Amino acid sequence: LKPRSNAAPTTMQGIDPSHNQPMGSWSNEQIGASVKENVMLTWAPSKMKNNLPIITHGEGVYLWDSNGKKYLDWTSQAVCTNGGHTVSENIKSAVAEQLDRTPFVYGGMAMCEVRARLSNIISSVLPEGLTGCAFPSSGSEANEAAITMARRYTGKTKIINWYRSYHGGTTNSLEATGDFRRWYIQPPPGFVKAHNPNPYFFEFAGATEEEKTEMSLLMLEEQILYEGADHVACIMLESIPGAAGVLTLPEGYMQGVRALCDKYGILLHLDEVMVGFGRTGNMWGFQHYDGVVPDIVTSAKGLSSSITPISMVAVSDKMMEFFEENPMGWGSTFQAHPVAMAAAYANIKEMLSNDVIGHVQEMAPIFEAHMKECASSHPSIKQYRAAGLFGALDIVSPDGTQPHHFNAPRTEATAAYAKAFNEVGLIGLFRPPVIHIAPPLIINEAEIKEGFEKQHQALDVLDKAL
Ligand code: PLP
Repeated sequence: LKPRSNAAPTTMQGIDPSHNQPMGSWSNEQIGASVKENVMLTWAPSKMKNNLPIITHGEGVYLWDSNGKKYLDWTSQAVCTNGGHTVSENIKSAVAEQLDRTPFVYGGMAMCEVRARLSNIISSVLPEGLTGCAFPSSGSEANEAAITMARRYTGKTKIINWYRSYHGGTTNSLEATGDFRRWYIQPPPGFVKAHNPNPYFFEFAGATEEEKTEMSLLMLEEQILYEGADHVACIMLESIPGAAGVLTLPEGYMQGVRALCDKYGILLHLDEVMVGFGRTGNMWGFQHYDGVVPDIVTSAKGLSSSITPISMVAVSDKMMEFFEENPMGWGSTFQAHPVAMAAAYANIKEMLSNDVIGHVQEMAPIFEAHMKECASSHPSIKQYRAAGLFGALDIVSPDGTQPHHFNAPRTEATAAYAKAFNEVGLIGLFRPPVIHIAPPLIINEAEIKEGFEKQHQALDVLDKAL
């Protein structure tokens, strides 16, 4: 073989010999240099990578960085490390057991016991008439699959979504998303945006809870009629919009959406990627709305507590029947990955055995009392919302009004807050004007207290800086 000008090493010869040293032996400088040279961030200007902490390990609700600094994981990373950072022996051995059997069989070619068991246990924790049937690798892909399923099943194309929403980063789930992130792509057709029943707008009119629900549903029905019910496949909503700021819904609203879907022959898809598996004190966010059962449910994050990348789609019996005879026509190599499913299966069993949802219900009033105190004791905070261990604080607008939740620009004040937030020993998501608070579901009362003490210190900085 002739030497090629585009050749690169094909054995360990020619590779930096420090790769032969055990994990944990690279210095901060060595890690930083490789990050600077090789790593790309995707949602943010990539140079921001150089300011991120290098996390070495975690335990319970805590993480440590390579300088020995300890952080309380105040938003469960991206609201996904629901079980915290200590992986139980049961989960470790379930993963190891699957690795021993085989790390992988392709889901379109072979079945395995863990897939049968995972579908079965998920179907058992869903209301009757829903089956947990497909396991892609991310929330985005679960929504991509669900959008395709809704279109195939109904033979219609339009999907109605809220502006204040996030459904993922793949083409269709990004276009289903309402926020600024969808601007990055060439939009695919067929997505129609509706306004959320946002309490902020109705405050101007001094509307009661009932009026907020009634007005929002009237607007949604009008939109369905203008778009043509015969063209609308699905209304696809987050049960509680999470990234948009834990926008809890007015009483009776979701029941009204269900009724509109039934009236016009439209599917209801509730995206539970963030709230599914206990975040809000119920197994599913939609269980806050008495009587509401969606036709499609997607979830991810809490499914495996993010130990492995895995998501799920659940559909109604009628859809299950339809796809027995018709191909759905979407997939990926890694869907129904046996090792990912083994972690998810063990995680769900552990969640149920330890009554994690009972624990969230116990912690919820304590959490909410702290949230309320943040809102009442800091002039920089206008409002709080909380459901279970899922909370948001709204930073007041410069004119003192309720903020719009619309991708407020970072200012010197919010930058000072973000810096203080890490300095006091918290790590978490921050997208102004919303401060999300969503610790691992295993957090105890003392740790909640500790987190809010730190949160107050960071808010003191914000109060002064605003
Ligand atoms: N849907 C919701 C409600 C989400 O919050 C997210 C992520 O935050 C997604 C979908 C996308 O999930 P993933 O990032 O796993 O693709």
